[in-house]
Amino acid sequence: MAVMDIVHYGDPILRKICDSVSDFSNLENVIDDMFDSMYEADGIGLAANQVGLDLNLFIIDITHTDEEEESHVFINGEILSKDGDEEFFQEGCLSLPGISLDILRPERVTLKYQSLDEIWHEEEFTGLLSRAIQHEMDHLKGKFIVDRVSQAERIQFKKELRDLTENSNKRLKSKVSKKGFVL
Ligand SMILES: [Zn+2]
Repeated sequence: MAVMDIVHYGDPILRKICDSVSDFSNLENVIDDMFDSMYEADGIGLAANQVGLDLNLFIIDITHTDEEEESHVFINGEILSKDGDEEFFQEGCLSLPGISLDILRPERVTLKYQSLDEIWHEEEFTGLLSRAIQHEMDHLKGKFIVDRVSQAERIQFKKELRDLTENSNKRLKSKVSKKGFVL
């Protein structure tokens, strides 16, 4: 078990469009560590760039609800279509601690993705799973829930966003300077 640090708003990797996964050889270990990290943080979904990995990969576990019995791994995901009524639902985010927002999203999503065995799937999702998929796919395209609300709403969290950015910058700087102490 290895719990990875979850990176927060302000870290540039969370603004990146993540790279496709081409090497599946060590992915199982990466995914195990991502699940450990997500459970440790009490999350229901986690995108690879939230633990500093530039990969089009995310995991979801909503087995605490009645909707799903298994956890999910989505690799090289691409949203093919979104449809159904748009609904508001309150979303939090592991990379935005202390912030939750009502986000409008369509009810259904059709996702093309690969599973760990490299097989391609095309599947329609509804309910909480659809919601979580849309949230995680946003991450992999460099987008946050704060980008999906009006400026008036976002401004209420100006201080939180500034503090998160400052802390992310500090963290990045300390990481760089640490590289000088290879003894
Ligand atoms: Zn998130």
